[in-house]
Parts: sequence; C-alpha cells; structure tokens
Amino acid sequence: MRKPQKKLIAELGEPVLHKKAKPIENINDPKIQELIDDMVITMQEANGIGLAAPQVYESLRLFLINSYKDRDNPDIPETKLRVVINPAIIEVSEETEKGWEGCLSIPKLAGKVSRHTSIKVEYTNRVGKKVKETLENLGARVFQHEHDHIEGILFLDRVRNSKDLATDTAIERRIAERDRKRKSEDKEKK
Ligand SMILES: [Zn+2]
Repeated sequence: MRKPQKKLIAELGEPVLHKKAKPIENINDPKIQELIDDMVITMQEANGIGLAAPQVYESLRLFLINSYKDRDNPDIPETKLRVVINPAIIEVSEETEKGWEGCLSIPKLAGKVSRHTSIKVEYTNRVGKKVKETLENLGARVFQHEHDHIEGILFLDRVRNSKDLATDTAIERRIAERDRKRKSEDKEKK
C-alpha cells in the first residue's frame, strides 16, 4: 500500500485560497482516497483541528475535522475524525458567538470571528455514505471555518476590526499575564 505523504500547505496570498472549490464527482477515485490520506497526516503533523482541500492546493469540496474534546462538556467522549465531502449547511442557529480562530494557511495570527453556535449539516463521508448531523459549539465553529475555505473565504474576511486580531505571541503573553494575576490574587486571599 502507498504510504501517505505530507502535503505543502498553501498560505495567505495564494489564489487557490480565494477560489470557490468544485464538487467531487467520484469519491471512489483512488486519487481522491489518496488525497484524503495525505490530508489526514498533513493536518495531524501540523496540529490542526481542521484542513480543507484548497489549503493543499486542491480546489475541491472536501475538508477534514480532526477529533476533538469539548472542554465545556468533559463528559462527552472525544469525537471521531470527520472526512467531509460536498457538504451543505442546511440550518443555522440564530445565536452566534465570537471566538478566537487560527488557520494553518495564516501562520502566527488569530482572529475573533462570529459563528453560529449550532448548525445542521449534510455531507458525504469517504465511503460514500450520506451523513446528516447537528454540530454545536467547537464542532460548529470548525465546520463553518472549513466550509468557508471551500467557498474561498478566509477568517480574515470575517474579522471586522483590527482589535479582533492578535499574533500568537500576543495571545501567549496575555494568557501568561492573566495566569500571573490569578496566582497573585490567590495569594492575597490566603
Ligand atoms: Zn483555515
């Protein structure tokens, strides 16, 4: 069997990231199955929570959502890795929430983006089975971010104010500062 290969990740400035991607006609095409295998290792080696085909220079309606644990609901087991092909978002919640997002195609930068907190979606998985599911919170956020990629939209297009942007370094410093403050507050309490 062929060994999966790590793909090069397209970064901001590459035209492929701004193009609407094409549907996949034949999921069983070995080339598509190989692409999925390659994307899985590319995402995992880059520590990404999601990866869309245009991010590896393939303008196709395909993306992955890595397994994740919902920090707000620790009793729910870790999700399985999803392979999402030709997806549609069929319903969205009225409720939206702003949250920080990063992107493998935009290194070292994070942005606060408003997303629907719950969405109903439909897609085909890698064995050609139709899947219908409702995603919430982090799952809904990642799905919307990846779905944007196949529409040629980046999270930067959804950031409305430069105050909603931060470098990874700035975020790390802010977290460190917050932890320091918490520690000193705890000391004062004692
Ligand atoms: Zn992204």
